[in-house]
Amino acid sequence: MSISDNIQSIKKELPNNVTLVAVSKTKSEEEILQAYNSGHKIFGENKVQELIEKYENLPKDIEWHMIGHLQSNKVKYIAPFVNLIHGTDSEKLLKEINKRAKQNSRIINCLLQVHISEESTKFGLSSSEINDIMQRSSEFENVNIIGLMGMATFTDNISQIEKEFCSLQQIYKNHTNFTTLSMGMSGDYKSAIKCGSNMIRLGSVIFGNRNY
Ligand SMILES: *Cc1c(COP(=O)(O)O)cnc(C)c1O
Repeated sequence: MSISDNIQSIKKELPNNVTLVAVSKTKSEEEILQAYNSGHKIFGENKVQELIEKYENLPKDIEWHMIGHLQSNKVKYIAPFVNLIHGTDSEKLLKEINKRAKQNSRIINCLLQVHISEESTKFGLSSSEINDIMQRSSEFENVNIIGLMGMATFTDNISQIEKEFCSLQQIYKNHTNFTTLSMGMSGDYKSAIKCGSNMIRLGSVIFGNRNY
């Protein structure tokens, strides 16, 4: 199956309210164009340098999402064009995004990343840290916090994955102004949708396995 066939067959199965982010990290511009030419416009990358290069070389109507861990000192490079930052995981980062958005006369959409997995290596905030940040969200005038993002434990245990996704959905539901719940990757997106995800981030089921 080609990249465009993969994307079309996945999109056909998705509920209408679920947005697909095609995760193109490590993939070539030619491969991204195959997806783009089949009508897909939303792509996610996890490295700032790679994101900038692809942004510069590819069509300007692509909506670019930063899905990876973002260091504060790199925000300035993506602030002029990024559409959504999924991995906002500290107040320091939020302050920096706000500052750089202001310099670019933009409002930047962000998701707060929540730590739901068992793995300590994954990043993210706790439910109470999210409450604290949301109470002071008006301080960040050039940031629009539109929802949450999370990653489940890397495991074959579906009931554990669904438990983690549903715990994220509970936190999401506590904030009635949120619109976007980003959870689900190639291996677990069906579980994520069951637990209320409305934005999934798929790489390998679209582009094939990554060669690092
Ligand atoms: C790589 C990545 C994905 C996509 O992973 P696949 O398993 O290839 O679908 C999704 N989200 C994040 C944050 C990633 O880094």
